[in-house]
Amino acid sequence: MTTAALESFAPWDPRTYQQGSGASQQLQQHSQMPSEVKVREEDTNRSGLFETGFPYANLPPLVSTFTFAQDSGNCNSKFMRSTLYKVPKTDAIMKETQLPFAVVITPFAELNIYEVCQQEIKEPPVLDFGPQEPIRCHRCRAYLCPFMEIGERSFRCGFCDTFNQFETADFTDFKNRPDLRLGVFDLVATNEYCKHGRAPKEPAFLIMIDVSNNSFSIGMLPLLCHNLEKILRNLPREADQIESSIRVGLATFDKAVHFYDISSASPKMLVVCKQQYLLTIPKYTFSADFQEPFVPMVDGLLLPYSEALPGLRAALAEIPKIFSQSRTTETILQPVVQAGLDALKCADRAGKLIVFSTVLPTYDAPGKLKAKNDRSLLGTDKEKRALVPQEDSYTKLGEQCVKSGVTVDLFLFPNGFIDVATIGQLSAVTGGSIFKFQNFSAQKDGIRMLYELQRHVSKKIAFDCIARVRTSTGIRPITFTGSFHMENSTDLEFATIDENKAFLTEIEHDDTLKDSAALIQTAVLYTSMTGQRRLRILNMCLPVTSDYHQVYRLADPEALTAFMLKQAVQLYRDKGSAEMKKSLSSRCAQILATYREKCSEGAPPSQLILPESLKLMPLYVNSILKNDAISGGSEMTVDDKVWQMELIRGMRTEDVMPFIYPRVMPISDLQMNEKEELKELPKLVRASADFLDKTKAYLIDNGVVLFVWVGAACPRTWVQDVFGVGATNQIDTESGLIPEKDNAHSRALRRVIQLLPRGIRQRKKIVVFEKSKLEPRMKTCLVEDGSGAAKSYVDYLVEIHRKIRNLVS
Ligand SMILES: [Zn+2]
Repeated sequence: MTTAALESFAPWDPRTYQQGSGASQQLQQHSQMPSEVKVREEDTNRSGLFETGFPYANLPPLVSTFTFAQDSGNCNSKFMRSTLYKVPKTDAIMKETQLPFAVVITPFAELNIYEVCQQEIKEPPVLDFGPQEPIRCHRCRAYLCPFMEIGERSFRCGFCDTFNQFETADFTDFKNRPDLRLGVFDLVATNEYCKHGRAPKEPAFLIMIDVSNNSFSIGMLPLLCHNLEKILRNLPREADQIESSIRVGLATFDKAVHFYDISSASPKMLVVCKQQYLLTIPKYTFSADFQEPFVPMVDGLLLPYSEALPGLRAALAEIPKIFSQSRTTETILQPVVQAGLDALKCADRAGKLIVFSTVLPTYDAPGKLKAKNDRSLLGTDKEKRALVPQEDSYTKLGEQCVKSGVTVDLFLFPNGFIDVATIGQLSAVTGGSIFKFQNFSAQKDGIRMLYELQRHVSKKIAFDCIARVRTSTGIRPITFTGSFHMENSTDLEFATIDENKAFLTEIEHDDTLKDSAALIQTAVLYTSMTGQRRLRILNMCLPVTSDYHQVYRLADPEALTAFMLKQAVQLYRDKGSAEMKKSLSSRCAQILATYREKCSEGAPPSQLILPESLKLMPLYVNSILKNDAISGGSEMTVDDKVWQMELIRGMRTEDVMPFIYPRVMPISDLQMNEKEELKELPKLVRASADFLDKTKAYLIDNGVVLFVWVGAACPRTWVQDVFGVGATNQIDTESGLIPEKDNAHSRALRRVIQLLPRGIRQRKKIVVFEKSKLEPRMKTCLVEDGSGAAKSYVDYLVEIHRKIRNLVS
């Protein structure tokens, strides 16, 4: 056994620590603990080219390290990232280590500009074998891939060991087929893989906007109408396309739904209810009986952007005028989604409903919801009651949407309760996203909202997807987490999957692994943005071992953190807070105790010994335990809490990491003179108040919120340069805006914000100065610190150490 990979500390004794003397000793102890910032810094020596490996997948660099992967037969870790890069041979080893074997799958992940898969394009190649059906193992149905052993006229399936005869006669150049060399590729699907045996139509996005009184008064409606035309210019297209194939449509709603025929420059409005009215704008009337919404079937409803443009422009100009005097304060939501779904169904297109809603749907119609205030239940043992849907009709409607390949995205602008737990099911089930702008003000939040929308509608996306994960004999996927619908135990139905959406599967042994390799293949049948039915195939091959040390050495701490976070949310939903916390901490201790027992027997028991690969695990687990999504109490709203839980559902590993351990960087020392260029982020510091210097200002970023924290003794010149005021207490912290000033400090700060990796959301910026009333919110990002019931990193490590000692003795 090697000890090179062991990280050891000075002996820890919980009692001496608790009696610990001064602050300086505490800081010293703190500095000695494994540092996430240091680990990330050290990993940058793996930046640059990363070969994915063959036959076995290489352990990928950390998500923060800039790499460009070269596909050598295993897929890029952006597509599939495993918690283990050496898989235990037997279930007994798995159980003993308690390490989860899970894979985070982002089937349509965006690649960077240096990652060419083939033919110098950023996307995996699309292979078209004409009418020939994809070659698959006749027994386990795995697709031909680099892990099939190719013979003269047959191949041995790497997954189930079965011999298969090739049915095709043409073997020339067979060995050069890309599907025998690449970890990821697309196959054009034959008609057998299409719904009803025929090719699908181009997908569509239907924009559905709330036009009630509230929507106008908060400024959302005029702002959106003014900018939507420009935003929709960015619909996603494939590399060789000039215009997107995606159709667009427009609808508005209050107590009724209004569709727009945008086929001409004088658009017509159709008000949908029991009877049909065909009106020419700006005349407007409605009748509101939603028991039987009719199916809006018009030719001019869903059109390619260029054809829709004159009508779209005219309608968007008229809508704010028509509804500016609206007195309607109550709205509907479920009939809106139902009508949108019916419209897409009638047009026989998969796609998205992008719904903008400002109030709780309280109007007397199906899906009517009650206002309630359960905030006081948060953080108590009754909180589960507050987090579940009021009724299941939204979930059922979501399931209907999935069946027709329709995703629901919600852009919410509430001033009060809007019941994300209930209406959010529409997105949760259909692979959609929820964007929430609480107390929206067009002036403060308008630009952020428009950027968010533009980014959202321009993402690469796959429609009407069915995913299946296959593994080699001896292991199988047992649970799945993400935004999908399942009707059997193997097929995951997603109405859409975009480039930022991940799902996760946990794999278990049902036997001893016979071969030296564990294979995983994810196949996603989908409709492309151009309306072509395709299969995306992702492959991964991991070596198998009986050596505990190898298992720990090649564990991936980040995929493991993503797994732990998603599992924590699931446990929290199912079993409540106390049970979840207990379960997560025990698992963390058990993982480390087994390491202690199997890999470092010689060390004295008082010493805490952590595997090099997992030395940050206690830090990450502690941070998960105190994350707002799980731990937040009555200082947050029920909607906020559910929104955060939903955000985690489809999170990629790349987004999980800053969310769990935010980036903290000093920025007040930075200057950027006129002709200079800043290319890198400043050096990060640990996420703890111990490491913040009050003479500086910092950026603190978790990918959702970006804080600018200004220390009490931060130089006045910096405050003046950046905010144009003489003292920190004069900074306009309300607006969250960072003014554009023509000086070196201001330029540097704005440049650093530009350099931040894309967050999971368009970040809300909050300016906080030391000891101001917003500071406690920022402090939740300082995850190494404790407060109230939330333990500090030091205290948690002491607790885990105690648990490990109990387990080992
Ligand atoms: Zn097979």
